[in-house]
Amino acid sequence: MKLAIENAVVWDGEQVVEPASIRIEDGRLVGIGPDASGRFAADERIDAAGKLAIPGLINAHTHLYSSLARGMSLPGYAPQSFTQILEQLWWRLDKALDDSAVATSALVGAMEAARCGVTALIDHHASPNAIPGSLDRVRSAVCGRVGLRASLCYETSDRDGAERARLGIEENARFLATLDPRDSLCSGHFGLHASLTLSDRTLESAAASLPDEAGIHIHVAEGPEDEPQCVKRHGVRIIPRLDRFGLLRPRSILAHCLHVDAVEKDAIAERNAIVVHNPRSNMNNAVGAFDLDGVLDRGIVTGLGTDGLGANMLAELFTAGLAQRQARQDALVGTFAQLDRLLFRSNPTIVERIFGVRVGRLAPGAPADIAVLDYAAPTPLDGANILGHLLFGVAVHALRVTDLFVSGRPILRNGAFVELDEREEYAHAREEAQRLWKRIA
Ligand SMILES: [Zn+2]
Repeated sequence: MKLAIENAVVWDGEQVVEPASIRIEDGRLVGIGPDASGRFAADERIDAAGKLAIPGLINAHTHLYSSLARGMSLPGYAPQSFTQILEQLWWRLDKALDDSAVATSALVGAMEAARCGVTALIDHHASPNAIPGSLDRVRSAVCGRVGLRASLCYETSDRDGAERARLGIEENARFLATLDPRDSLCSGHFGLHASLTLSDRTLESAAASLPDEAGIHIHVAEGPEDEPQCVKRHGVRIIPRLDRFGLLRPRSILAHCLHVDAVEKDAIAERNAIVVHNPRSNMNNAVGAFDLDGVLDRGIVTGLGTDGLGANMLAELFTAGLAQRQARQDALVGTFAQLDRLLFRSNPTIVERIFGVRVGRLAPGAPADIAVLDYAAPTPLDGANILGHLLFGVAVHALRVTDLFVSGRPILRNGAFVELDEREEYAHAREEAQRLWKRIA
């Protein structure tokens, strides 16, 4: 299959070329240039005049299982702390998920991610009463039906007792064993909830079941309670605790890391583990400010995620800058150079480590992961000021993604899903959500 996206303004991840065409063959980019018409015998040509084509976006930490929570009201909801937000909201929701709700949540979350231009996501799944096989259901919805690249894991935790912890470990180990290393569409992590809900025994069995090449995906020092609880119960802070079990690895994702200290940051850098920043979720839960300079200055691969709060990566990036400035009362922090590193350098590095494919650049040989945005620039646009356009144009005005490709597979064309009937899927999701909410009430 040969495809040509023509007449677009193309940001290839470094430079802007316009008007340009992108040539795709068998899922890979074979060329980008000012003129391809006539010289490239495409099976299909897409006229992208007036549009901006960019590398597909990446969400490095999310929870698709939360997709059906929107608009839900919970009787007796009155949390007094971050842990109580987990107990009274998220742990009530995830316990009510059955097999069918797991699949529907994943489908809706992945469809919304596609609508935001996301071509790859890293998910952290929980459904304590529907653990076995849950990751297959998520894979089938996200990678199969929607067609996104996804790394999946199950959130192992002792919060619901030893049996559920054992099932969580089994589900991660089982799922990781099903993965084909040549499959660049689906990958996996070993999922762990957070230090505060994990016993040493569970960490030990997780470490024993963790394949050498795999990494963990865990929340670290998100709420202010996580570190003091770890010191009190285990006599050590979170990062050295994880390190004791050999869990800090180049593919390990440590989400949040708001309250880790300087020694812990040094250890993360030394182990070459990955940190993922989730600014909007942090602000929503009022859990603290992120030390962006502290991680970037140490050379830690620091990516960007939404933590389940939607999938709009450009709005998330915009907020990452605002959050730094607000927290430090300094308009000169949260620089474009730092923001560029989060979403457009680190997130592709994370995908490369996990999936073994080089994305984030529209270059010959790369997988054709491309988002086409309905954006015509009212001011000059080039490789040096692209971030200004993406943040103050596309993000601020919530502009539409019209076309999306993952390894050349068309996911969205002219603003509509190619293989899914969105109206029908959402009608089904509303029914599913109604049943789910009834189980929680
Ligand atoms: Zn999270």
